[in-house]
Amino acid sequence: MRLKQSSYSSGCSVGDTVPYIICREQVGAECGSSTGIAPRARHPDEPKQNDGKWLIDIDYYLSQRIHPVLSRLRASIQGTSPERLADCLGHDSSKFQVKSNEPANNIPSGPLFSMEDEERYRDCRPLILSCPSCSASFNCPAICNSICESVSRKSNNDEKSSSFWCSLHCPECPKGENMGTFTSAILANQVKRQADGFMSQYYKCVMMCDDEILRKYSEADLYKQLSYFCHILDTERCLDKVDSRIKVQVDREITRIRHVVESAASIVRNIRDRCGHGWVQMRDLFVL
Ligand SMILES: [Zn+2]
Repeated sequence: MRLKQSSYSSGCSVGDTVPYIICREQVGAECGSSTGIAPRARHPDEPKQNDGKWLIDIDYYLSQRIHPVLSRLRASIQGTSPERLADCLGHDSSKFQVKSNEPANNIPSGPLFSMEDEERYRDCRPLILSCPSCSASFNCPAICNSICESVSRKSNNDEKSSSFWCSLHCPECPKGENMGTFTSAILANQVKRQADGFMSQYYKCVMMCDDEILRKYSEADLYKQLSYFCHILDTERCLDKVDSRIKVQVDREITRIRHVVESAASIVRNIRDRCGHGWVQMRDLFVL
């Protein structure tokens, strides 16, 4: 208002809306944006008139208006950080490093990432595969974990099924015989049947949500469950988290089985994305 009075004859009265934008002075560029906000608030016409004396302070808008909102929106998305976001906005990411390195928020960037995934999907049901030959069923390990363990020969997992993804073979059936082999179609069918099961569980709960006995199976639960299956069958994004010493081998193994998995993975991805964009309430996702 003060600025308006100095350059415009018409005053303002209570209730008027005064449009303004935050600018920076071009002269003395290095200290131009260091003064407070109020002296730098200008009428939107001013930057156009003053022969470039005032420029719109793009840094201010990116760092104060856009970055905080994006950071909040993306806080629950894995792999993003205020720092990385600042980087994408062409901003000085070092300013945000302090915040993201607080101990409480100390996300390890190495192989420990899988611990974080385990924590994230703790409440989810496992993907259960049944052998087409002997009908034995077992919990399907995440592709990436399974292959990393096999490649690094870490045998701290006693379960026979932990190396399933290297052989695509039932852990109970004798090896070498033409039995217990999982094909692309078998995987896709089993994954789809289970994803459908979670969908109908969700719909059942919608129908009888007054029933206090049943724990409500929410849209967020369903979304998380389907995301978990996507995570188990993921053959792309997981590679970023693999230790660089075994990455080449893991990549080779994953490439070898990708065509078998892809159909199942894309089925569950489609179901999840449909539920994510179609009828899941976004507010439920952010409660996670
Ligand atoms: Zn079998």
